[in-house]
Amino acid sequence: MSDFAIQRIDDATYHVLDPGASSFYVLEGRDCAAVIDTGITEGERIRRVVRKLTKKPPVLLVTHAHPDHVYHATEFEKIYMSHRELEMGPVLFEQMTAGRGDILRNSTDIRTGAVIDLGGRELEVCEVPGHTPGSIVFYDRAHQQLFCGDAIGSGIGVWMQVMSALPLTTYRESLIEFGRWLVERGGRMRFFGGHGSQQFMTSLPSGWNPLGMGLLYDMIDLVDGIVEGTIVGRESAAPVPGTYERCLHAEFGRAQIEYRSDNIR
Ligand SMILES: [Zn+2]
Ligand SMILES: [Zn+2]
Repeated sequence: MSDFAIQRIDDATYHVLDPGASSFYVLEGRDCAAVIDTGITEGERIRRVVRKLTKKPPVLLVTHAHPDHVYHATEFEKIYMSHRELEMGPVLFEQMTAGRGDILRNSTDIRTGAVIDLGGRELEVCEVPGHTPGSIVFYDRAHQQLFCGDAIGSGIGVWMQVMSALPLTTYRESLIEFGRWLVERGGRMRFFGGHGSQQFMTSLPSGWNPLGMGLLYDMIDLVDGIVEGTIVGRESAAPVPGTYERCLHAEFGRAQIEYRSDNIR
């Protein structure tokens, strides 16, 4: 079996980091287990990993429809996802989901306010449109655990240069709403992202840069600065996926972003 690194968060919650540095999470309730995202490991079945962690029947919760988050959706019968992902349009949706489009179109649509009950363990849903139109986060209020996929970045800064990304003006509104939603819930949650632990990149010293409320508020200022023209990115080392164009990179405090100059408004 491939090299999956398993980290126990608590008695009923696990983080699995796949060999390509994509994360998924296993949360056990009394009746069933939630698997949040799937990672992308070719030639493997993640159900084998999940089964080692829980005997409860698993349901798949998708933070967003990118291949490194839905690749193993074929292994699940019950799937929840925001159908705002379909706003990408059918061609991009099919590309972004690595051919899992039909399965995901048949999933249960969830939006802000939805609650998924695993039996004695509830997960609240909040939409954070930006990285994709239907990016959502899952919050376990009792355990103060927030599972946020790539909504505010993970591993490295947030990727807003991808073709599925909404304009930065929309993302700014999403982040402000998201901040309010978290503050209403006490604002002291632990954040778990889509790609292991967040690292600083480029000009900042490399090292651990955990997701959290501080980073979220820096992200609001960063996106606001770009929209208002007070922050201008420099050319990034990363090309826009699927093109030879370079995207832009900008930083503010602990927040970092890759974006396209034609997708600000
Ligand atoms: Zn993503
Ligand atoms: Zn990702």
